[in-house]
Amino acid sequence: MEKKELTRYVSKHQPLLSTLEKIKLWPSRSGVLHGIREIDRRGCLAVVTTHCGEKFTVRDSRNSRAARWLRSRRYSESCKACAIPGWKLSKYAATVFSDRR
Ligand SMILES: [Zn+2]
Repeated sequence: MEKKELTRYVSKHQPLLSTLEKIKLWPSRSGVLHGIREIDRRGCLAVVTTHCGEKFTVRDSRNSRAARWLRSRRYSESCKACAIPGWKLSKYAATVFSDRR
């Protein structure tokens, strides 16, 4: 089925870092969606670098603000400097956060 090929399934029970590694997008607190250039894992922490050059430490948690916003696709605009390609945004829009583990 055509639709199945476009849909990406990501378990919503996955910890934040695994989800970030798949989706490569970061919803900032101000509502701007950034593209992730690099995720440097250090145990339960990771240093995330965005394409626009922001660098911050993220704690691996299923229920953090970022994890919830990522699952609910909560953002108001995408970062101009990150220039997230359209296909990436469509893929994100077609991502289903499923109950399957
Ligand atoms: Zn950005």
